[in-house]
Amino acid sequence: MELQKIIAAVQEYHPRPDIELIRKAHAFAIRYHKGQTRVSGEPYITHLLEVAFLATKLKLDSSSIATSLLHDSVEDTSATLDEIEKEFGKDVSLLVDGVTKLSQIQFSSSAEAQAENFRKMLLAMAKDIRVLLVKLCDRVHNMRTLEFLSESRRFRIAQETLDIYAPLAHRLGIFWIKSELEDLCLKYLKPAIFENIVKQIHQSKREREYYIKEVVKLINKVLEENSIQGDVSGRPKHIFSIYEKMARQNLPFNEIYDLIAFRIIVPTTMDCYAALGVVHAAWKPIPGRFKDYIAMPKPNHYQSLHTTVIGPENHRVEIQIRTQAMHETAERGIAAHWAYKETGDSKSVDPSMTFQFGWLKDLIESEKLLRDPVEFLSTVKADLFPQDVFVFSPKGDVIALTQGATPIDFAFAIHSEVGKHCAGARVNGQQVPLAYKLQNGDTIEIVTADSQVPSKDWLSIVATSKAKQRIRSWLRAEERSRSISIGRELLSKDLRKVGLSLSKVSKDNALKKIASDFGLRDEDLLLAEIGYGKISTRSIVGRLVPDASDLEAKLQQEESALQKIFQKAARAFRDRSGIKVKGIDDVVCRFAKCCEPLPGDELVGYVTRGRGVAVHARGCPQTLVLDPRRMIEVTWDDKAKTPRAVKIRVYCLDQVGILAALTQTISSIGSNIVNAHVSSTLDGRAMCSFELTVDSASQFRLITRKLEDTKGVIRVERHKRGMEEL
Ligand code: MN
Repeated sequence: MELQKIIAAVQEYHPRPDIELIRKAHAFAIRYHKGQTRVSGEPYITHLLEVAFLATKLKLDSSSIATSLLHDSVEDTSATLDEIEKEFGKDVSLLVDGVTKLSQIQFSSSAEAQAENFRKMLLAMAKDIRVLLVKLCDRVHNMRTLEFLSESRRFRIAQETLDIYAPLAHRLGIFWIKSELEDLCLKYLKPAIFENIVKQIHQSKREREYYIKEVVKLINKVLEENSIQGDVSGRPKHIFSIYEKMARQNLPFNEIYDLIAFRIIVPTTMDCYAALGVVHAAWKPIPGRFKDYIAMPKPNHYQSLHTTVIGPENHRVEIQIRTQAMHETAERGIAAHWAYKETGDSKSVDPSMTFQFGWLKDLIESEKLLRDPVEFLSTVKADLFPQDVFVFSPKGDVIALTQGATPIDFAFAIHSEVGKHCAGARVNGQQVPLAYKLQNGDTIEIVTADSQVPSKDWLSIVATSKAKQRIRSWLRAEERSRSISIGRELLSKDLRKVGLSLSKVSKDNALKKIASDFGLRDEDLLLAEIGYGKISTRSIVGRLVPDASDLEAKLQQEESALQKIFQKAARAFRDRSGIKVKGIDDVVCRFAKCCEPLPGDELVGYVTRGRGVAVHARGCPQTLVLDPRRMIEVTWDDKAKTPRAVKIRVYCLDQVGILAALTQTISSIGSNIVNAHVSSTLDGRAMCSFELTVDSASQFRLITRKLEDTKGVIRVERHKRGMEEL
């Protein structure tokens, strides 16, 4: 890659680029990165030039191209941001600063830090979308050259790309980046599966090309007969989408016809519908597969008609119909929207256009609602994997919801009060259960009842982050008021034993004072802490009546008997589990059934009423409904090394020798198999259940990864005991 090629590319789409700025940035980068090489051995400048060239594919402005050349100089060389500002001005230095900060984010670090960083990134994006676009180009080139890194870094970077950057590219509508990133992720995360798909696509090449040619010819013929002008083409879908389809439908690779998408590009929107008409007249459409994204564009502005018909030789044929302008948007997304004026360039990319992307605005605004960073992250992740379903209100308003959304989601989308009291629903005039999954085009009517309130079950039914958030905060508020009343009950009982009453004590403001001694804002918070079991009633009574020694001794005796039982249970647990609870030695702990953390997983404990501390893996979705004030710090005790039992299920092809291959893989990693069970299904597949012992979460991940890479394996999942009682 040479600078000249980049300049030529910019000149192609930009009437008056600032070539001087780009040249200066190039010289600056050469000077500062002098002598540095990449892990591949190439001089560092090659990376910067490649990133700049990718930026020209997004038709970015001169400042962004300069930023691409400078994006690593603050991080990796002696150059400072001040120097960059002096040499290149404020616009470039802000961009370089943004990209540098983005690069310092490690998304796979601890969940809170990760969420916090993500939040920063979104805020940075809201200010200037160019930061993210340059970062995406950087990530594309890094993924292209990932093979030179160590296995663990390859794995970490690929996972982060799949979790964060590919979905962002999707949301910005930049299809070529999304698909290239996804394919590269699959290559490094599931190498065996990737190689297998590549091999099979290659093997079926001639057959496929012949098939494409025939179908294109047929479509052209029906278009011509109806005098519709159209450009018809067919190509295989990208590898990751083939993999997703196989994984989703639990299918091995065999039907090449399912791997091809045909496309008709026509001059006008009217022609799109006309072309759809002739296609449907020629071949039978498959019901439920027609989607009109022209009338209802996706949130990333994607527009097209999608249909699947029973085509020649009874194969299913997927067809997309769109205009050239829609095609541009589909391929280039946000980048298809900017135009450069003849005058200057620095202002031509309007940062406010970020807000054309409503989802980004929603996220940033919802951020204000969210206190808990882990919850924020789970919200963001839910919103980044969109598969939208469009439904109607009785008045005919279109509402876009996440795929899998239910009437409860719809109710919360209308208004939180409607959501809270949602008691039933009618879809297209028919009564449906609340767990009904909404379909495109459904008209929904919600029935409310004042007596109806959200329940914990709703959390497993709803699909949108908005509904989840609202339900969680309602459950939390409920839980708090319950704890306050339990605390009140416990305290008044013990106060009565020393001849006091709660109402008298609170009238004297004595409780308020004690609350502030504990660093709590008011009486209610103190009662809640008592209700959770974090503060004992004895310590309160002791403060109120320091000289009631008899009664106090009696209370103490009662509690110390209880304490002994606790200590015994705690010792037994410590021996088995290797858990330490911060600040408390004698508390009963148990592993939560919903996430069953393994040694090495980050932990978080929650005080439960009467059943000690439940130990969850950090980020476990079940914990999101719990009051953060019940949280207690727990860690693994490094000294105790106890293997833990886990159950896994391996879905695979029912082949000779597969069980032997699986057990060998498991034992080669040093894990013991306690129990194994195989069952065949009718469709030539098998499900193997194993009970194993593992020493750590990382060992478990290794086992899962090796099993997934074993030939014939379709899917591996961990089997857990189920939901935790909160
Ligand atoms: Mn870089």
